[in-house]
Amino acid sequence: MITVLAGGVGAARYLRGQLQTAEQVTAIVNTGDDIELHGLHVSPDIDTIIYTLSGQSDNDRGWGLCDETWTAFKEAKELGLDAWFQLGDRDIGTHLARTSWLQEGMSLSEVTTRLATARAVKCRVLPMSNDPVRTHVTLAAEGREVGFQEYFVQLGYSVPISGVRFAGADVAKPAPGVLDAVENADVVVIAPSNPVVSVGPILALDGIYEALSARKDRNIAISPLIGGKALKGPAARMMTELGERADAVGVARRYRDIVSTLVIDEVDGGLVEEVESVGVRAVVAPTIMSSLEAAVELARVTVASVS
Ligand code: GDP
Ligand code: CA
Repeated sequence: MITVLAGGVGAARYLRGQLQTAEQVTAIVNTGDDIELHGLHVSPDIDTIIYTLSGQSDNDRGWGLCDETWTAFKEAKELGLDAWFQLGDRDIGTHLARTSWLQEGMSLSEVTTRLATARAVKCRVLPMSNDPVRTHVTLAAEGREVGFQEYFVQLGYSVPISGVRFAGADVAKPAPGVLDAVENADVVVIAPSNPVVSVGPILALDGIYEALSARKDRNIAISPLIGGKALKGPAARMMTELGERADAVGVARRYRDIVSTLVIDEVDGGLVEEVESVGVRAVVAPTIMSSLEAAVELARVTVASVS
């Protein structure tokens, strides 16, 4: 079994490749980005993974479902609703189902299994926790804390931050199956996801960091930063603003106690020595998953590097 610690897009692309090369794949997915909006429970990273693995993601937009329409959202705005988080009609269907089932008393794990099964996803998709964990960031200029989606969507991550907090992580328990999936995996892969806000919340949960360090030799990460940049999103910017190096060396420093190896992109071949001086073995490979074939090859190289 391969277990993958996952955020959204980077992880979903990787998982698509991993599923072609391994029998059993479990994704432990960040829920720190979750948000309750207009009475609906939205789980952006879980949805990105389910939509991508069911072949229904919208590749041009980069999020949400394909063949989407926006009638409900437009109607609500015309009626005067202050709606800043775009919700497509098909997407709303997901959120209605999730929210109803949660209100009926199902756990987020149960709901997620049901949604993944309904879309014929072959990967076992586990939310990191059934308890609420919410990522907040502190805006450097004002010292004010805002929710992650407010920073990411409303502010377009264009303002400097000075801190990140995972509210609830101190009391949240890993969801059923999560610790087991870490302990019993042949290989644990930390996907090329945002180290701060996608992987950070998972590592903050009770017992996960310890479980990972105890089997560090069979854990590997893939750098989401290529040539000191994120392919998309605020990972590089956030790391710089938090005083870290925004490159593969910064990623190696974050994960040094929980992985033995880091896959870094070919363009970062010059960073091998510096990564290894952090105490993490570096494997250089093409890491841009522009096609399914590229993702399959990355999954193959990644798993082979620690098994
Ligand atoms: P989000 O929750 O949708 O923002 O997604 P993630 O946290 O999973 O992913 C964001 C990170 O994934 C960014 O830092 C990207 O650089 C990285 N990423 C996305 N696609 C790829 C890829 O094909 N290769 C690598 N190495 N990183 C990627
Ligand atoms: Ca996310």
